[in-house]
Amino acid sequence: MKHIVSFSGGKDSTLMLLLMIEKNMPIDDIIFADTGMEFQELYDYIERIEGIIGRKVTRLKPKKTWDELFFATKKKGNNIGQINAFPLTMACIMTDRLKRKPIQEYYRSIKTDFTVYIGIARNEPKRYERLKPNEKAPLYEWGIDENYVIQELKRRGLHNPLYDTFDRLGCYTCPNMNLKELRLMRKRYPAEWAKLMWYGEQAEKYATRRRFAEFKPGWTVAELEKRFQLEELQKELQFYETSLT
Ligand code: SF4
Repeated sequence: MKHIVSFSGGKDSTLMLLLMIEKNMPIDDIIFADTGMEFQELYDYIERIEGIIGRKVTRLKPKKTWDELFFATKKKGNNIGQINAFPLTMACIMTDRLKRKPIQEYYRSIKTDFTVYIGIARNEPKRYERLKPNEKAPLYEWGIDENYVIQELKRRGLHNPLYDTFDRLGCYTCPNMNLKELRLMRKRYPAEWAKLMWYGEQAEKYATRRRFAEFKPGWTVAELEKRFQLEELQKELQFYETSLT
């Protein structure tokens, strides 16, 4: 029997991993499905955790990269020849190709029974109920909720700074980010924002229809950039107006 920790660098799987090690629970492998599109800060955080636990995390890489999927042209349907561009919000094809499939392939490569340990806190009963027979959620079973996870990681000096900006971790090109997150990302992560702008330009360049130019429903990346610039301008004007009165 093998014991596999599913590690995302998120708060729940991080604390679960640390506690499992402290409780001397068997761990044969720690896996991280790397989309290749995570914030650099997440990659740095994972390296930091590796240093603390003194062992390597196995990075699972997808067969096709985000770029290959983004620029692949449609072979059937009404939009033959059009590049895929950004995934649809909610039904993100990238989740399947960049995460789910590499994980499934990894599982298939294990030639024995195995248990997967997943970071699910006590306040996520629905996720817990959906677990398969060979999946376990130690945090949930120990009665540890999200609030405790956050406080405990802070106490250990292991708060992941990405949570100061984002509600959930993921690709810097994720259309499921809300406007608040995107606004903050533009300010705090200019390198990733510049890359997102580049993908936005490519989407517009190759779009045969408006939908394929969009990053989020109704918005191209360039339009979001203009919107945020305008908001900043309005704030500055308001500041000058109040300082003059
Ligand atoms: S983070 Fe967003 S873009 Fe990336 S795989 Fe998940 S849903 Fe898709």
